[in-house]
Amino acid sequence: MSQIELDQGLADELAEAIGAEHVLVDPDLRAGFEHDLTGRFDGQALLVARPATSDEVSRVVRLCGKRGVPIAVQGGNTGMVGGAIPRPGEVVLSLVRLDDLGPVDTLAQQVECGAGVTLERVQERAREAGLDFPVDFAARGSATIGGLIATNAGGSLAARYGMTRAWVAGLEAVLADGSIMRRLRGLLKDNAGYDLTGLLVGSEGTLGIVTRARLRLTPLLPARAVGLFAFASIEDAFALLDALRARAPSFQAADYLHREGMELVCTHRGFPQPFRELHDTYVVVECAGQDDPTDELGEAAALAEDAILDSAIATDADGRRALWAYRESHNESLSSRGVPHKMDVTVPLASVPSFERDVRSEVVAALPDAEVFLYGHLGDGNVHVNVLGPPPDDRTVDDLVLRIVAHYGGSISAEHGVGVAKARWLSLTRDDAEIAMMRAIKRALDPQSLLNPGRILV
Ligand SMILES: Cc1cc2nc3c(=O)[nH]c(=O)nc-3n(C[C@H](O)[C@H](O)[C@H](O)COP(=O)(O)OP(=O)(O)OC[C@H]3O[C@@H](n4cnc5c(N)ncnc54)[C@H](O)[C@@H]3O)c2cc1C
Repeated sequence: MSQIELDQGLADELAEAIGAEHVLVDPDLRAGFEHDLTGRFDGQALLVARPATSDEVSRVVRLCGKRGVPIAVQGGNTGMVGGAIPRPGEVVLSLVRLDDLGPVDTLAQQVECGAGVTLERVQERAREAGLDFPVDFAARGSATIGGLIATNAGGSLAARYGMTRAWVAGLEAVLADGSIMRRLRGLLKDNAGYDLTGLLVGSEGTLGIVTRARLRLTPLLPARAVGLFAFASIEDAFALLDALRARAPSFQAADYLHREGMELVCTHRGFPQPFRELHDTYVVVECAGQDDPTDELGEAAALAEDAILDSAIATDADGRRALWAYRESHNESLSSRGVPHKMDVTVPLASVPSFERDVRSEVVAALPDAEVFLYGHLGDGNVHVNVLGPPPDDRTVDDLVLRIVAHYGGSISAEHGVGVAKARWLSLTRDDAEIAMMRAIKRALDPQSLLNPGRILV
């Protein structure tokens, strides 16, 4: 049987299983699923399947499995490491039609939803019930709950609330043999056997396809204050972090950016410079409570006043959004300038200043035309290293930066995952025994390597 006949046969069977209009074969219809937001990853899919229910997902998996056709699992396609982008010969399985969102269970403080529901919809549903889903980041309008779970997404609130893993009370997933694993009872105490939910969180679509989730919620803290603070260095910014931890129980986020990022964002978005002078380091701080946390934020800032060069505080929604926008506009501003090499890494907090110095000097020494942009989450040592200049498929800069991370005892992936972008460097951060265990789990659950092959493990 020729390749074309084989593909048509699969397309026909899928059309019968999920409806012809949800099997996209036409290149124009496939296009939006074949490249990512960063512009660094693209690939041609055999076709795109868009099932609407868990049973339909199972049917797609069984049909692909029967023919040995690998699957690229895709949610909102906001990922940064190329995991959702098809490699040649793969079917894209898009989860966005699994978008039902249940009522909030206010007693359990939980909500159940399909994998394709966006982060923003979950946040809105929770807030209507006086609760909140405390994972948040700029892609909230497109990133799906399935994608958040698959990548164990972090975001700005992770220092206070932890990462997505902490907020998954249970899930349902279609496994590589098409069977459906369901743990949706939401029991917080449940030690009867292996933690299968925990195993799937952060597995980046390599062990199972998340189809539903039961999420934990937290009481909404409606009163918020956001401050933007300027410093001469990132070391100086640690003084504010210390003060916030000591004096502001309402402290929930501290993201930082540097001078070059501020200039880039202001140019791209047309924002005014926040202060009369440009400074080396800026920190966006958010405090939230039942009562107005502005005084707490002010008291913490007073403790760090020797280090603070300038500041602005906003309590109204527009003002808060405007201050956050200096940090949250980095991704789109960078993409407007070219295709960045993105390395989301963690190093021990105390090492962040020297790590940043090493990255700047070694990248520029190796690639004199490269431009380095560093920003991240101040509370947890998570640095987003972005480099403009090297061609997208040149790995020199990735190799250099990830080796500096290993030198500092850090992780090559803080919150975006490994995907295809970093798979070849996994051994910098996980030892032989760990990688052997990962391979054994993958082999046991997906012996044909049908689900997201080449992601995490090469
Ligand atoms: C502007 C911007 C800001 C961002 N900020 C942050 C941040 O602060 N913190 C952070 O952690 N991330 C951040 N991200 C990255 C991204 O939004 C997250 O990784 C998000 O969790 C991806 O969700 P998604 O639905 O878009 O997944 P996709 O991009 O579609 O997929 C990501 C990975 O998950 C797998 N996957 C997707 N859905 C499923 C499923 N249902 N079952 C199994 N596997 C699945 C894919 O195969 C792929 O490997 C940001 C992205 C952008 C564009």
